Amino acid sequence: MTDPFRISQRALGIKASGIRKFFELGLSMKNPIDLSIGQAHFDVSDEVKAAAIAAINEGRNRYTVTQGIPGMREKLKERYAARFGNIDDCEVMVTCGVSGALMLTFLALLDPGDEILIPDPYFVMYRHLATMVGAVAKTYDIYPDFKPSAAAIRDQISEKTRLIVVNSPSNPTGYAMNEAEARELAQLADDTGIPLVSDEIYEDFIYTDRHVSPREFTKNCIVMSGASKSLGMPGWRIGWLMAPRELVERMYSLQQFSFVCAPAPLQWAALKGLDQDFSEHREEYRAKRDLVYDGIKDNYRTVKPGGAFYMFPFLPEGVDSERFMEACIKRELLVVPGGACSDKSTNFRLCFAATDDKLKKAVDMLNDIAKELK
Ligand code: PLP
Repeated sequence: MTDPFRISQRALGIKASGIRKFFELGLSMKNPIDLSIGQAHFDVSDEVKAAAIAAINEGRNRYTVTQGIPGMREKLKERYAARFGNIDDCEVMVTCGVSGALMLTFLALLDPGDEILIPDPYFVMYRHLATMVGAVAKTYDIYPDFKPSAAAIRDQISEKTRLIVVNSPSNPTGYAMNEAEARELAQLADDTGIPLVSDEIYEDFIYTDRHVSPREFTKNCIVMSGASKSLGMPGWRIGWLMAPRELVERMYSLQQFSFVCAPAPLQWAALKGLDQDFSEHREEYRAKRDLVYDGIKDNYRTVKPGGAFYMFPFLPEGVDSERFMEACIKRELLVVPGGACSDKSTNFRLCFAATDDKLKKAVDMLNDIAKELK
């Protein structure tokens, strides 16, 4: 008899996240220094919490229109128009996080067998979402400086390539692209007719002069961002995307028959949050970046992050990932082995969204480890 719960080939194609494994390991430790999971260390602000509670009490608990509450979409459109100029032929929709925006984009644009290009190292979800829709994620190499070079991408383009994913500031490297790089990517999209998917979820966590989006230089670009990181609400599942109107209207139907809508009261709360000034958090995170970067740079070759809250240092010369991870676990320090978000195992990812006290302890441990393993 066949197994009544025979797993689909689609589900079999998805491996458990290498990052989650460390999160779970952390739960079994008494007092770990956990720099493995990528979420801001601050909570939702009181003002935004009050807006969520008010929305619930006022009965905003029903489905919203699938594309999201009008106030939120209008505010986002204003924001994007101020940055990108005329966006009259574009539409904005609210999604269940950037994860939802990615899912809708892939569902709307990819057929089985199509290819997408993602950076290596990459945010793990890109590869798996591509697999889920029957497409194939191929990588373009951004080692060792983590710059998304148009030349490296061009080398990987085939006649099956349908999308180019870019992510700045980046998870896992913290690299933030500059204007010249964004212009090159925009030119590439215009030359090839292959759209960019620009994942800008870390846009507020920026330590260079400003966040640069390739959408400033081409319309051939789907922009997505969200409230998970900037407003400290990853569990609230609010994100959004902006793309040409006809494409977004297709996505309405896809969302209508899958997620239905983003959580209703939390859309109202996120709307309140869009007015919040981020500069204090930005300076706080810049200081955390400096604390860790200055603390480990003598023992680890590291590209100084221009944004986000990750660092992706190279392992010390001659040290393999397994030995390094064992040394970390022995000290109850949780970081992510580079192999969980790359085809290479030469680095590790640490998330500096933690208290300074924890970061100082982690820096001491990492320096200890480098000396011990030499
Ligand atoms: N994109 C990147 C680069 C991320 O790092 C994450 C979360 O870690 C996401 C998207 C997903 O975010 P959301 O919570 O908005 O689904």
